[in-house]
Amino acid sequence: MTGIPASEPASTSSISAVSDQLAAAQGRGSAAILDGYSRSVMNTFGPPKRVFVRGEGCNVWDVEGRKHLDLLSGLAVNALGHAHPTVLSAITGQIATLGHVSNFFATPSQVALAERLTGLVRPEPVEGPGALRQAQGSVEAKVFFANSGTEANEAAFKITRQTGRTRIISTEGSFHGRSMGALAVTHNPKYREPFEPLPGDVEFIPYGDVDALRAAVDDRTAAVVLEPIQGENGIVVPPDGYLAEARRITSEAGALLWIDEVQTGMGRTGRWLDSSREGVVPDVVTLAKGLGNGFPIGACIALGPAAALLGPGSHGSTFGGNPVAAIAGLAVIAVIERDRLLDNATAMGDRLAANITALDHALVDHVRGRGLLRGVVLTSDVAPAVADAALDAGFIINAPRPNVLRIAPPLIITAEQIDSFTEALPMLLGRAQGARA
Ligand SMILES: *Cc1c(COP(=O)(O)O)cnc(C)c1O
Repeated sequence: MTGIPASEPASTSSISAVSDQLAAAQGRGSAAILDGYSRSVMNTFGPPKRVFVRGEGCNVWDVEGRKHLDLLSGLAVNALGHAHPTVLSAITGQIATLGHVSNFFATPSQVALAERLTGLVRPEPVEGPGALRQAQGSVEAKVFFANSGTEANEAAFKITRQTGRTRIISTEGSFHGRSMGALAVTHNPKYREPFEPLPGDVEFIPYGDVDALRAAVDDRTAAVVLEPIQGENGIVVPPDGYLAEARRITSEAGALLWIDEVQTGMGRTGRWLDSSREGVVPDVVTLAKGLGNGFPIGACIALGPAAALLGPGSHGSTFGGNPVAAIAGLAVIAVIERDRLLDNATAMGDRLAANITALDHALVDHVRGRGLLRGVVLTSDVAPAVADAALDAGFIINAPRPNVLRIAPPLIITAEQIDSFTEALPMLLGRAQGARA
């Protein structure tokens, strides 16, 4: 047998075959690439607006070489911006050493990330008469690794079914993903109805309404699932105290509190978990988007008795927890800590909101959200037109609702970059207004 020696250098001809293909693809220009997209990629997202080929920091360049300021971070994903050197060297070092083993085996990076994540979700020790919270400081916490937010929520859904109860309370306007289980707890009828029947026993109540929550939860409730801020619904922030009340209500009923921090977590709102703002310790928390800075990874973390509800054979994933994804997560956490990016998210988010408020523009009703997860609520339904005008002017934002702009830049964004957008905003709003008139 003539096997390839392990020391064989990567074949230069095979590498150049890949780069030739890439160069040929780029050389086609955006019109031809978008045409190829429409013919060979399923139309689940509608037509793409641009073709991007390169990113660095908070900027991305399209195939024609035009630079754009990425104020959306690939949908709250690129927390450290594009091509971050620490993430890059962590990932390349890991994949050159050990890229994948099955879940029959452990790897040091997987365990290290699990330990970091369980440390982040455990409650901080609190001063004063918080005996209950103090006791929670020693609470057990365990991670199931997945590859996306949807999958993290799917694992959480299965945890709820192991409680011996089946009823789940979710909220109007919620978004938790598109697999059948995650969709079952997602509210939007447009997403749900074509795929019914979905896993059952899910009830939707108004978001942010404590009385509705109290009325809905009883001793048949397995779990309440909540986003701390509804991102896909347009950065909807519940009243202060809502999550703390949800914690109280679920604890009293013996139900799990499942907090979906896929969009709000990993520093996006200026904290590792947005729900920690109210001192809430969930039973289950899901993370994804910002966790791998673009490398696919999701995590479902369960605390206390919930940490033991999934046992051997009850769930699994081939790729979940692979060492490359795990080291990406470790790199993200390390850089957020080293560069004090939680503080930057708070400061830059406040600056963004203050700048926009100071414009005192007739089309801007108010700015909502926290840290660098912000919604600009407009006085008319021109958000998609504003997002298009922004893209033409080199700014990436989106319109989760007809009257709401979402701004979720990398946590590394600078004051200068924030100001460049807010200075351009009146012009973008004017263009959208003009296009409508
Ligand atoms: C994006 C999102 C999801 C789904 O995550 P995917 O990685 O797209 O599967 C789930 N929950 C929330 C709150 C999200 O914002």
